[in-house]
Amino acid sequence: MSTSEISAPALQRNVPLTAHTTLKIGGPAHLFAEPANEEQLIKLLGWSRQERLPFFILGNGSNVLFDDAGYQGLVISMRSFENDLIKVDLESCRVTVSAGASLSRLVRFCQESGLAGTEFLAHIPGTVGGALVMNAGFSRHAGQQNAIGDLVEEVRALTREGAVVQRSREELNFSYRHSNLGDLIVLEVTLRLWRRPKEQITQEMKANLDFRKKLQNIQEPNAGSVFKNPPAPHPSAGFLIEKAGLKGKRIGGIQISEQHANYFVNKGGATSADVIRLIEEVQKTLLHATGIILEPEIRIIPKN
Ligand SMILES: Cc1cc2nc3c(=O)[nH]c(=O)nc-3n(C[C@H](O)[C@H](O)[C@H](O)COP(=O)(O)OP(=O)(O)OC[C@H]3O[C@@H](n4cnc5c(N)ncnc54)[C@H](O)[C@@H]3O)c2cc1C
Repeated sequence: MSTSEISAPALQRNVPLTAHTTLKIGGPAHLFAEPANEEQLIKLLGWSRQERLPFFILGNGSNVLFDDAGYQGLVISMRSFENDLIKVDLESCRVTVSAGASLSRLVRFCQESGLAGTEFLAHIPGTVGGALVMNAGFSRHAGQQNAIGDLVEEVRALTREGAVVQRSREELNFSYRHSNLGDLIVLEVTLRLWRRPKEQITQEMKANLDFRKKLQNIQEPNAGSVFKNPPAPHPSAGFLIEKAGLKGKRIGGIQISEQHANYFVNKGGATSADVIRLIEEVQKTLLHATGIILEPEIRIIPKN
């Protein structure tokens, strides 16, 4: 099958990945597509299998680092996927939402429906699918963990071969910034929430926003936390990096934020090689100073 036989969705060639990642780093995707629905997605998977072409599923690109050489395969962006799919069963407090929806849209919908539970996701710039795979979370209270996995009742997904599968709560496994959904392509999720007056939901969202603005009001391109926090009783990765005197350290176009030491900011023209060198430099310094090995939270995607 030739690329021209793939009618929908249109395949684009040599698409700069800088435009599809919040860090604004990465060479071109050899091929790029934005399926709007399941049928288009399944068609793309079948075609890439037939062509023996590797593919990568991209959400909003807020937790990935692409190579400077780009991606030698097909990047499938989920940002336009089933964008209208979000529905609520108020009786059972269940919300079903597409993997392609933004977290902010999900949270707004829940707020308007008087359903609580998702407020902590409001200011995370990802899609629902990316958040599930990463088990995204946030809490403004030290020692407390809120993560999307806690809310999940059921996930509908595709295998990499294109077969539809359901995963119930019991079959799912979520831990700190990790899930067992990595080999699947998430299509939609059902979350179990609870009723709460809208004003209280709004207050909770505002408190989260105020907290984030104070600590993480970073305007330059970034990908959120670069490293996972080491397990308790160790302090946070940001604290350790700051204590090691690395705040503000710069390699090429990438710099450790002056504001939050676990954020790297693109000062302009940063390359993935710069980011990897800075990651290694932080890991080496921290290992030497504390014996702790910091593990990257951002996903480093090889060019293939
Ligand atoms: C300013 C800023 C603040 C942030 N704050 C937080 C925070 O508070 N807490 C937190 O946890 N994270 C945070 N992040 C990181 C990031 O936003 C989250 O990890 C988010 O959930 C990633 O979603 P995404 O759609 O951008 O995924 P991407 O970065 O596009 O992808 C991440 C991974 O998910 C996979 N993936 C994406 N969609 C699907 C799908 N439908 N099916 C299968 N696999 C898929 C990708 O292949 C990749 O492996 C922050 C990032 C930024 C830039």
